[in-house]
Amino acid sequence: MKAIIQFFALAALCVLSHTADAASFRTVVIDAGHGGHDNGGQWGRVYEKHLALDTAFRLESKLKAMGYQTVMTRSSDYFISLPQRVSTGNRYKNAIFLSIHYNYTWKPEVSGLESFYYSEEGKRLAQYVQNSLIQRTHTVDRNAKYARFYVIRNSTIPAILVEGGFVSNAPERDRMKSGWFRETIAQGIVDGIQRYRGCN
Ligand SMILES: [Zn+2]
Repeated sequence: MKAIIQFFALAALCVLSHTADAASFRTVVIDAGHGGHDNGGQWGRVYEKHLALDTAFRLESKLKAMGYQTVMTRSSDYFISLPQRVSTGNRYKNAIFLSIHYNYTWKPEVSGLESFYYSEEGKRLAQYVQNSLIQRTHTVDRNAKYARFYVIRNSTIPAILVEGGFVSNAPERDRMKSGWFRETIAQGIVDGIQRYRGCN
């Protein structure tokens, strides 16, 4: 019964669409970067793997409430390989793949948000998500960019990788340590998904 209600909620949510393909997906595969022994970017006790997983959970609950089906490639602090992440996503046809990361560089002054794509369809999704993230966070726009990262290059569904700011930048690190900022990132991604789907 719950599934039926969710289906109608999603159908009612979005009547118009720009392309048939984009409008038809109802599953979002959420890939929280890193995990287990792979901490990702790290500064003191601030670990990218924790920030990414928390943001992924926030995104999951928002999307579920809107009637989307969600799949998490990992749901706690354990290691999974890049091929495992991709094969989880590629099990779904009517879906998009969203990898969540936070950035790191040795230059502490570098800041901002960026989204990466590999395919043409991924490019459209990345541009919507990037623009929505910038609107929500009012932070430095490092743009949607082409990249050959494993998880987006090997996905058979539209796939992007979002970097929600730099762990290595003090002001951004302070923000991402607080729940409201990760909530804002999750909401920005939701906005972008909705726009990509042709709903807003
Ligand atoms: Zn990462």
